[in-house]
Amino acid sequence: MSVRVVARIRPLLEKELDRDVIVRADRVAEGAPLTLVKIPSPKNETEEFSFAFNRVYDQSASQEDIFTAEVAPHIKSLFQGLDVTIFAYGVTGTGKTHTMRGGLKLADRGVIPRLLSNVFRRAKKTMKDTEGATSVAVALSYYEIYNDKVYDLLEPPEKRTPTGLPLREKDGKTIVVGLSERLCQDLKDFERLYIEANNNRITAATKLNAHSSRSHAILRVKVTQTTGDAVRESTASAIDLAGSEDNRRTDNGKERLIESAAINKSLFVLSQCIDAISRGDKRIPYRESKMTRILSLGQNNGITIMILNLAPLRSYHLDTLSSLNVSSRAKRIEVREIENEIVYKQPPRTNSGLSGGEIQRQPLR
Ligand code: ADP
Ligand code: MG
Repeated sequence: MSVRVVARIRPLLEKELDRDVIVRADRVAEGAPLTLVKIPSPKNETEEFSFAFNRVYDQSASQEDIFTAEVAPHIKSLFQGLDVTIFAYGVTGTGKTHTMRGGLKLADRGVIPRLLSNVFRRAKKTMKDTEGATSVAVALSYYEIYNDKVYDLLEPPEKRTPTGLPLREKDGKTIVVGLSERLCQDLKDFERLYIEANNNRITAATKLNAHSSRSHAILRVKVTQTTGDAVRESTASAIDLAGSEDNRRTDNGKERLIESAAINKSLFVLSQCIDAISRGDKRIPYRESKMTRILSLGQNNGITIMILNLAPLRSYHLDTLSSLNVSSRAKRIEVREIENEIVYKQPPRTNSGLSGGEIQRQPLR
């Protein structure tokens, strides 16, 4: 199991051009790739926190750049039988949906349509190269987890049971009982289904008077390669996570409190799993949330990529810091002085208790 954590800083939107930018990408040395995210301390603006990632993408990174560098190299592994999981993590408004789904224009298309397009291309190639001896089937599942309940997005919202779909263990794997699966022949097929399912998601959220940014949306692409009696199955999962902001600050309604706790818990478990996998731990706490359980995160032989989406604006300051704390595997604090620059290798925990979120109260490492 390998895990890679990258950050993507989104550009300013048209209406934000006059606003204060406080987040920047940086490198450890001249000529090195971008791997650092820098952000001032909210308590003392002359201090700057620095967070390290496997790679950082700045405002200039295109959808194609992200896909080509982070996802395309793993399509081959997928066809070799490995599971590939891509998460978009971050505060609402930072570009998760843009990164995963993207816009309609060709250049704006996100990870998901590009992934499908590549999978179909490779499936065709495999069948051609084996002169038809190997057949490849691509099947889609799409569901959301809201308040720790699983709902099928390929079904219309009126067919939902309020309790959601149950989970069951089978051959050491967690399965969602009754989750539908649709075979897809080509990109057009996929797009039809995907648009319909995303509409289902919005309709369902509207009915509940909720917002889709409060649920995790999980797209699963199952690739089945059959050669005679031999069947090889692998899945690519693309996940647009619920917003990581602490809703308790702005919304004190009782319903929202429960919701926020459920969201924070699953996001916290996710970050613990990512941490444990990246440390090479034997025990991955994947059973502690439905999302990580369904993905059997850390249990399979696979590749996990987490994309932390960031908005560079000051208005996101505390939420951005909190998401950086959760996602970054290495963190340093630098104190900027005029004459000299002191670098503390040991991060003093001055940034704990920034927000009342459950995430911050837990020791991260
Ligand atoms: P989230 O899903 O995290 O809530 P969105 O993907 O909806 O955030 O992004 C918020 C807004 O910013 C949207 O209008 C989106 O189109 C825009 N946006 C996000 N990332 C980019 C980007 N890399 N380039 C251009 N616009 C972006
Ligand atoms: Mg979104």
